[in-house]
Amino acid sequence: MEIIKCPEFNYLTLYKSDVDISSKEFSSGRKSAVYIRDAISKASKCKICNGYIHKNSLTIDHITRKEDGGLGLIDNGQISHPYCNTTYKN
Ligand SMILES: [Zn+2]
Repeated sequence: MEIIKCPEFNYLTLYKSDVDISSKEFSSGRKSAVYIRDAISKASKCKICNGYIHKNSLTIDHITRKEDGGLGLIDNGQISHPYCNTTYKN
């Protein structure tokens, strides 16, 4: 007996392939793909490691370090991960 037919596993669903390219409707998988594609293209990246950065977890890094005379001016600021801003760059 296939596990998918067992009552205790009724929460399982079968993966449905998304290969039908003749449909004029967006499948839910394709809707998600469009959203993710567009959202990622606009997502902010850490200027130190180039990784994606969440808006709730970012710091403003001095491009020229304060120890090297860098000032708190807009042109000397860049967004970065807290980790990147406080560890290996220094
Ligand atoms: Zn980073």
